[in-house]
Amino acid sequence: MNKKYIFIITIALIIIILSFLILKKNIIFSIPNNYHAYIGLNEEINTEVTACYGNKILGCKNIKIDVDTIDTSKIGTYVVKYTAQYKGHKKQITSKISVIDKDKPVITTENEEIKICPNQTEYDMKYTAYDNIGGDITPKIIKKTFDDKIALLALDTSYNVTLKTIPIKKEDKEQPTITLKNGNSIAIPVNTTYNEPGYEALDNCDGNITDKVTITGNVDTSKPGNYEITYTVTDTSSNQTTVTRNINVYKMATNQVIYLTFDDGPSKYTSELLDILAKYNVKATFFVTGRNPSYNYNITRAYQEGHSIGLHTNTHNYSTIYSSIGAYFNDLNTISETVKNLTGEYSKLIRFPGGSSNTVSKITPGIMTSLSQLVTEKGYKYFDWNISSGDAEGKVLSSDNYAQNVIKSLGTNPYYVVLQHDTNANSVKAVSKIIEYGQAHGYRFEALNTNSPTTHHKISN
Ligand code: ZN
Repeated sequence: MNKKYIFIITIALIIIILSFLILKKNIIFSIPNNYHAYIGLNEEINTEVTACYGNKILGCKNIKIDVDTIDTSKIGTYVVKYTAQYKGHKKQITSKISVIDKDKPVITTENEEIKICPNQTEYDMKYTAYDNIGGDITPKIIKKTFDDKIALLALDTSYNVTLKTIPIKKEDKEQPTITLKNGNSIAIPVNTTYNEPGYEALDNCDGNITDKVTITGNVDTSKPGNYEITYTVTDTSSNQTTVTRNINVYKMATNQVIYLTFDDGPSKYTSELLDILAKYNVKATFFVTGRNPSYNYNITRAYQEGHSIGLHTNTHNYSTIYSSIGAYFNDLNTISETVKNLTGEYSKLIRFPGGSSNTVSKITPGIMTSLSQLVTEKGYKYFDWNISSGDAEGKVLSSDNYAQNVIKSLGTNPYYVVLQHDTNANSVKAVSKIIEYGQAHGYRFEALNTNSPTTHHKISN
């Protein structure tokens, strides 16, 4: 054979062998033998593995495969067999499947942010690390502190890493507190010395900053009144606190007494008056009449609340009561019985309508001279006044005017008997001002009784 034929035959053989190899049908797996796969705990084995029968040129037909089962709930490396069979052909491959822990440890911190004082260098933060395999791995946490954050690193035995950073905020938004010793209000007598009782300032970041407190305000102990002392402190973060102390400079109690007396009631204003007196715990005296019986309940109330009830005649009708001695006592007895019925007690306190100095009684000459003696003989005490509010005069004034009329008349007398009428609305409203002034100036308010000073006027009839 010549060389030409040998060459041709050789080429033909190669083509035949190659064709045979290329076109040969086989079972082909989608993964190579000894493939090594990694899966997480409890994950399913990769079911994407497929097998087919055929070849790449003529095509490959998918065929069923059997796969071993393994326990993926346990860490470890398992050998898995994949078996494919088709028309008497059988092919088996194995792969390694490592079940590994893919879960990172979980770091739990007390806060997601640390707030500290600007001047604070030490602080504490609680944290824990938990791992699905290792359990509590807190002691294994690596902690690194920076100026502005804390970094926590937790690593489990499968080298899963968790990094958690907690930012550190340096700030102080809390105000200091100032505590005033002896309280926020102090009362001292006039003309004594005011001594600062002391104070303490505390701050959440700066601690005791009492020495930074500034005090403003002045107490003039020579003048009765209310004064304010202001205490201010600022912490290093500019949080400021101000508190004030009220200093009441009061006039020492005098032995002077004011007897507030109200004539001609009861009336529709008497309840309001009793409320005012109750508010200030002041006792007064009511010289009552029988002219407004629908308000008689106020006589009972006044009596029960500690006020004195006096008799002012039943009708207050000058032409009747001063027409004769008998007429006066008839009228007086009527109101006396009324008061007894309302209070359970006969009153021995009297005020003559118009006062003992009245001249309206001149219809019966000398009657006031007689009556003033007769009532005393019968065991009564009659009372006039030494301050008039002016509230019975024709012109109606404001409550301020009535109050001023009384206040301007208060002086150095040991006692003042003030005449007002609880039938006058503005006069009733003036009572608060009169009481406040009186109390601020050392006067004592009392109700009249049979031992009180009678303040008699000069009888002119
Ligand atoms: Zn009167």
